[in-house]
Amino acid sequence: MKYIFVTGGVVSSLGKGLCAASLGTLLEHRGLKVILQKFDPYLNVDPGTMSPFQHGEVYVLDDGAETDLDLGHYERFTSGVLSRFNNLTSGQVYESVIRKERRGDYLGKTVQVIPHVTDEIKNRIHRVAKETQADVIITEIGGTTGDIEGLPFLEAMRQFAHDVGPENVIFIHVTLVPFIQAAGELKTKPTQQSVAKLREIGIQPQIVICRTEHPLEPELREKISLFCNISTRAVIEARDVEHTIYEVPLYLHEEKLDEIVCELFDFKSAEPNFDRWRSFVDRVINPTHKVRIAVVGKYIELQDAYKSIYEALTHAGAGSDCGIDCLRVDSEDIERAGPDLYLSDVDGILIPGGFGDRGIEGKITAARFAREHDIPYLGLCLGMQIATIEFARNVCGLEDANSTEFYPETPHPVICLLEEQQDVTEKGASMRLGTCVTDVKASTRAFELYKSTTVSERHRHRYEFNHHYRQKMEDAGFVVSGTSPDDSLVEIIELRDHPFYLASQFHPEFLSKPNRPHPFFAGFINAALRKKSSDSTEKAVPVSHA
Ligand code: GLN
Repeated sequence: MKYIFVTGGVVSSLGKGLCAASLGTLLEHRGLKVILQKFDPYLNVDPGTMSPFQHGEVYVLDDGAETDLDLGHYERFTSGVLSRFNNLTSGQVYESVIRKERRGDYLGKTVQVIPHVTDEIKNRIHRVAKETQADVIITEIGGTTGDIEGLPFLEAMRQFAHDVGPENVIFIHVTLVPFIQAAGELKTKPTQQSVAKLREIGIQPQIVICRTEHPLEPELREKISLFCNISTRAVIEARDVEHTIYEVPLYLHEEKLDEIVCELFDFKSAEPNFDRWRSFVDRVINPTHKVRIAVVGKYIELQDAYKSIYEALTHAGAGSDCGIDCLRVDSEDIERAGPDLYLSDVDGILIPGGFGDRGIEGKITAARFAREHDIPYLGLCLGMQIATIEFARNVCGLEDANSTEFYPETPHPVICLLEEQQDVTEKGASMRLGTCVTDVKASTRAFELYKSTTVSERHRHRYEFNHHYRQKMEDAGFVVSGTSPDDSLVEIIELRDHPFYLASQFHPEFLSKPNRPHPFFAGFINAALRKKSSDSTEKAVPVSHA
């Protein structure tokens, strides 16, 4: 078994996760079994309790683990299905060490960072190696070299390489080569210094991936090679890609990253074939059609808050040869200025998941706009709850209907807490999480898209559709098209008299992949395309008459 550790230097947000995921893609295309994992040095046990402002999206795995969004990249870029063991945080490490100390497992010893914390980290890698039986395990270390909290992880990596033999380990350092405008030059010093920082703790990277806005000329590569003690070929240029993150693996392949890794590990493999990946990228870059999709949320200014949703839209777009012009609408703007300004010119409206009452009324207005104007609607988790509230209020006449999350005293709690959630006080990992089975009703839109009566999807929520209102709403044209197998929980809803109005309590965006778009997203984009083409025919009529 071989191990690759990916560290980052100089600054954060360099796209280490994407580099690691892309290397995963490249090695998989060479026929290797790859598993990716992330070590995060922060003290939260998991990112589930962090605000999207702090951390971006929380990515949910099959087993219900709430993890770093880089795991989303890993699952989208490789075929590996990940588990809670693929995202280790300092919080988990210390929690486990302290539990062992309380149990007396350390037999009277003083418990210390070295060896107890570092052993805990190393054991995790061994465990993942044993359970997955992968050819290569790629581990990304969060944070930046030089951070105090990252030190135990780096020390553990150093020891690990010593334990399993340096021939089985590659360290890749992702770094920044900044362009200094006044000097008109790229500068290598920060890279030299951050590699020196790694060497100080006994780690010598074999490869550096240099993030840069300009081409890395041969003399610069030689300079980095000389001062960082790395072969010139292993100084990899990683310029910002022009169109889509799915270009990154192709770019790194041009730079021979996978070839160098295979040489270092002595892997013999045939030339990889990227035809399918390349054709996906081509369809993302040069689509024949285009639709405009409004994502109505409250974290729209954050690039990372709805990451999996934006990716799922891209996958579905590529599947239909259709570019996505994504209009990010702040639901509080709709509350202030009304929906027309933002939504009258869109081909589809998507309402993502969310928590708390800020911006809720704006989302309800958007859902109503979609229903009344026959605009395709896709609701994800909170987006299904919003659709339910809107229909209850404006079609069934249930005044002030709401979710008890936003208005506990509502006279019509159409969305309310699950019984099992009533007494939950802890916030961490206490929601309904992970994969659950949904029964899909025949002759519904959901069935038409899934072509199956049972599906498994990932969840992350506390509140549920209230059965008390089901009959009344179904009589008015609200269709419950998916439920838990015992029929106790509503999982999918749709509207009978609408071109495409579909929402789920689960998060389909977590299961979408390039070349395998999720059926809900594919259906949504196709409906948006149909709307757009029928709009243009309608608009064309008066012109031809004139
Ligand atoms: N806040 C809602 C709930 O907890 C929706 C959660 C979500 O959208 N992920 O049920």
